[in-house]
Amino acid sequence: MPRKISILGATGSIGQNTIDLIRRAPDAYEVVALTGAGNIAQLAKDAIALKADVAVTAREDLLDDLRDALSGSGVEAAAGAEAITEAASRPADWTMSAIIGAAGLAPGLAALRQGGTLALANKESLVCAGALIMGEAARHGATILPVDSEHSAVFQALVGEDMAAVERVIITASGGAFRDWPLEDLAHATLDQASSHPNWDMGQRITIDSASMFNKAMEVIETREFFGVSPEAIEVLVHPQSMIHALVGFCDGGLMAHVGPADMRHAIGYALHHPARGHLPVERLDLTKIGRFDFTAPDDARWPALRLARDVMAAGGLMGAVFNAAKEVALDGFIDGRLRFTQMAEIVEEVLERRAEEAAQGRDDMTLELVAQADHLARRAAEAAIQKRA
Ligand code: NDP
Ligand code: MG
Repeated sequence: MPRKISILGATGSIGQNTIDLIRRAPDAYEVVALTGAGNIAQLAKDAIALKADVAVTAREDLLDDLRDALSGSGVEAAAGAEAITEAASRPADWTMSAIIGAAGLAPGLAALRQGGTLALANKESLVCAGALIMGEAARHGATILPVDSEHSAVFQALVGEDMAAVERVIITASGGAFRDWPLEDLAHATLDQASSHPNWDMGQRITIDSASMFNKAMEVIETREFFGVSPEAIEVLVHPQSMIHALVGFCDGGLMAHVGPADMRHAIGYALHHPARGHLPVERLDLTKIGRFDFTAPDDARWPALRLARDVMAAGGLMGAVFNAAKEVALDGFIDGRLRFTQMAEIVEEVLERRAEEAAQGRDDMTLELVAQADHLARRAAEAAIQKRA
């Protein structure tokens, strides 16, 4: 029996890598829904090739274009955020959650409510609403498998282990584009410079977030929410080669490290074939050629985002949603030239201070509405903070 699968964010970097894997075994899968936003040509092409039931764009203004591109194919077309959530709630055994940003939260929740498997690349869902996501998964008997490379690595290092024996979880960071830059030059980093990653080929937003370490800051929070470890037990280690993705330290002093190529198809494939291992078309590392692995401690002055993540975890409640929303707006501000690179962290810190009241909310009763409201207010505060600097 083919597995029914859906891919949310199919036109993105993770979505396309997922499609690359399922294309190699077309008879094994029956595609229910593919979703995208602006890239209608890619969405329609893949939906037709994979014989999806439905293709959905987030952009309502592009529905006619999508209909034209799909005409005569038998693939249904739909548009808008609600249509994506509706498509995500159609029965599927396995769903890839790879929309970028907080927009991935509601569709991910809809997929979880079916009780199947959610392969979670959209780390923003866990940062914004970890308690809600994990609670819904438990309530509906759904399985969440991590797709972020560090979290897939931790997950793999934990197979057969008792969480009570885990002392620490170490996630690695390449250091991104500006690891070796003089600190005083960071304020003048350009969009082009921030958009190229030394090791990974990813979407533009996460690449910039890697240079600022906002990506790693989000991943620290993701680690806390996914594995339930305390903030003090989570460490970040700068490892320029990006080959050790994470290490788990146990109470007997042993460390289990996960080593793999910087290719997201490894983590996607692990989630696709779990609990088995699939044969994946990724590079086999030649350690004699690599020769060495380097490690250094992260520098808070270079990457203030890491300190902010600690503040967010200490505050709790809806502060994750505030953090993510402020970060998304600050990133927009950098991309459209309204903010300098180093001002992104300043904006996020200011919004965290202004919206501190959210720490008391959503602690025991997190709902999608509360998260959406915190997100909305934080976006407004971030916009105001950017305006103030203009
Ligand atoms: P991309 O920017 O490459 O792709 C994002 C996807 O989301 C695209 O399909 C895009 O559509 C769609 N999209 C954009 N805006 C919206 C919206 N408002 N509503 C619905 N869909 C939307 O992102 P990535 O693939 O790089 O990242 C996806 C997720 O995976 C993120 O959460 C990221 O943090 C995470 N991740 C990514 C990694 C990577 O290697 N890229 C590694 C680890 C985690 P379109 O392109 O058609 O406009
Ligand atoms: Mg990662």
